[in-house]
Amino acid sequence: MSIECYDIGGTWIRGAIFNENRKIVKKIKKEVVKDFCSQIKQIHKDLSSKSSSKISIAVPGPVSNGLLTKAPPLGIDYPIDLKKELKDLGKEIYIENDLNAAVEAELNFGTGKYCNNFYLLTISTGIGVGLVLNKNIIQGTSGEFGHNVLERRNEFLFKCGCGNYGCWVSLCGGNGIKNLENKLIGKNLSPAEVFERAKSGDKKAKDLVKRVRDYNAQGLGIMINAIEVDKIIIMGSIGLEQFSQIIPKYSQIRNYTINKIPKIERTSLGDDICLIGSYLIAKDGRNKDL
Ligand SMILES: [Zn+2]
Repeated sequence: MSIECYDIGGTWIRGAIFNENRKIVKKIKKEVVKDFCSQIKQIHKDLSSKSSSKISIAVPGPVSNGLLTKAPPLGIDYPIDLKKELKDLGKEIYIENDLNAAVEAELNFGTGKYCNNFYLLTISTGIGVGLVLNKNIIQGTSGEFGHNVLERRNEFLFKCGCGNYGCWVSLCGGNGIKNLENKLIGKNLSPAEVFERAKSGDKKAKDLVKRVRDYNAQGLGIMINAIEVDKIIIMGSIGLEQFSQIIPKYSQIRNYTINKIPKIERTSLGDDICLIGSYLIAKDGRNKDL
């Protein structure tokens, strides 16, 4: 049985058809808009999968009783009933938080499969952490390391989506990089442009990225102090694409932790990780009535 899956992120929406062997046979990626339910309906048409009886959606926010209660990366602060919105499609609908879906995927099909304990750290529009202990996914509101306050100097205090100032994500998530760009470069560059300039040797961009690396060392140090894990696995567009620029060396992380520093690597599932997780959830028939 094939399954139609969606991954709604802060920047992109991805739709894919998985065949019964967990292989993606068709995929569509578009820039996401706030009214992503209409986008799903359009992509559903474009994917034109007649054989899928299930649709599974990974969403960028908390899910409660089958409702997406809010989606901060899209500026949505009200609940959305996706099952109701997509009722016309006539399919069984599954919904899961994107990070939870990704942890499922990593635990079953990534290198996380070989670990008893690991962190899955996403660095993209947001910064979030999934945690697996003794092969069990820790549910609930754990792993909010992105909202650890790393900066207290006035000049680098940017307001975070959570309302506080100086959170890790307000410095190193997508908007965080924009905050630093405004402060240190001031040319209204996108995060991708900042990283490109840093790579080609631009002094100001290099200094910005160096600062990001140091905040990340601090953030990772806090995670490692909290729990010693076998591995830290990185996902998210910035984490995957800019890994070599933003992930600090072990010696730098050492400045912020007294525990053993685990291996830090990119997920082998790439940017399909949330899609794979949502496939697993629908395949196993979980979360249907949540
Ligand atoms: Zn915050």
